[in-house]
Amino acid sequence: MQFFIPKETSTDETRVSVIPVTISKLVKLGAKICVETGLGTPIHISDDDYLAAGATIATDRKAALSTADAVLRLRKPPLDEIAAMKRGALHVSYLDPFNQHELVHALAAAGVSAVSMEMIPRTTVAQKMDALSSQANLGGYVAVMLAASSSPLVFPMMMTPSGTIRPARVFVIGVGVAGLQAIATAKRLGASVFAFDTRPVVEEQVKSLGAKFVKVDLGETGQTAQGYAKELTAEQLEKQRAAMAEQCAEADIVITTAQVFGRKSPVIMTTAMVEKMRAGSVVVDMAVEGGGNVECSRLGEEVDVRGVKVLGYANLPGRVARTASQMYSNNLGNFVEHFWDKESSSLKVDPKDSLMQGCLITHSGEICHENIRTLLQATPLKS
Ligand code: NAD
Repeated sequence: MQFFIPKETSTDETRVSVIPVTISKLVKLGAKICVETGLGTPIHISDDDYLAAGATIATDRKAALSTADAVLRLRKPPLDEIAAMKRGALHVSYLDPFNQHELVHALAAAGVSAVSMEMIPRTTVAQKMDALSSQANLGGYVAVMLAASSSPLVFPMMMTPSGTIRPARVFVIGVGVAGLQAIATAKRLGASVFAFDTRPVVEEQVKSLGAKFVKVDLGETGQTAQGYAKELTAEQLEKQRAAMAEQCAEADIVITTAQVFGRKSPVIMTTAMVEKMRAGSVVVDMAVEGGGNVECSRLGEEVDVRGVKVLGYANLPGRVARTASQMYSNNLGNFVEHFWDKESSSLKVDPKDSLMQGCLITHSGEICHENIRTLLQATPLKS
């Protein structure tokens, strides 16, 4: 089976989809791998490193795309490259299928079997392929690093002859994978950490990291079968904001990570809440790419609100690109290995397999993912 790994096209992307150690693993399985020249440049991996791992190097991207049985990459494919792919080829990448309707239609029309890395089920067996988790974990770490370097305070308590320094107070809103890592990182730095999530099961996890869980009675909240938060009603969200306002005002750092899968992120911090924080405090809105948890955050920017810095940087894992590439590459490699069929020496796309079913969006000329198909049928493309 011939794989092609193109360079990322987004100028904002510092991560690399596949690193040489994964190439070696896939070559050992029996895969033939071709990578686009310069693939590893953003993280200082040379073409020679890929050659040494057993890949070949392509200089003609279109030609390599048109002959590949499978394409692996990080970000969604450019729309104008879909038609160049072979019918029946497999494409594995982030896809954002809830929002990229035109792209999903194009992949189906081209007969491409498209796997969305965001849709890998959150199950024990799929953990090793779970790119949402591997990247969110690093994002949580980076959020704390950014906050620490933007804050005029140190994080740990220090008792020195010159005086006692109180620990910085960090408040984390949303305790999924990113939030848990943010708590752990802030704790390691010595901060006093508080956290809140609408899923009650999280309280135990927060406490096990040595942080304090902020209790708010919002009535029925809960989570979906996949472990995702259920969307709050407008009244619940209003109640949450009122309860969070006090916590935010007391915090030196607020990190928001709250997301509702497949939907716009809830606005949890209003500008009035930011204005009530002490000047010099820092807010990191990790949900900014999904609409934002903080009313005044701006994608890719640092906004000053009466002396409070509101950081809305995109692609936080990209700030630790080498580690993030290693993790994403492992996720892709594990995906290929999991579905590898030794007999045919190829990756078998079995739409009946429950793991595959969860993340396969298009197959055999159709949108095969039930939720995405329903969503797309409800919102037909504008001609
Ligand atoms: P996510 O990125 O979808 O959301 C981040 C957090 O925001 C979640 O904890 C969510 O409950 C919270 N949230 C939503 N609305 C909120 C609000 N109004 N206020 C405060 N918090 C709010 O979450 P994620 O990190 O992708 O994790 C989703 C779930 O998947 C979790 O239950 C996690 O434990 C689970 N998970 C399971 C596995 C596995 O079993 N393999 C792997 C990874 C994650």
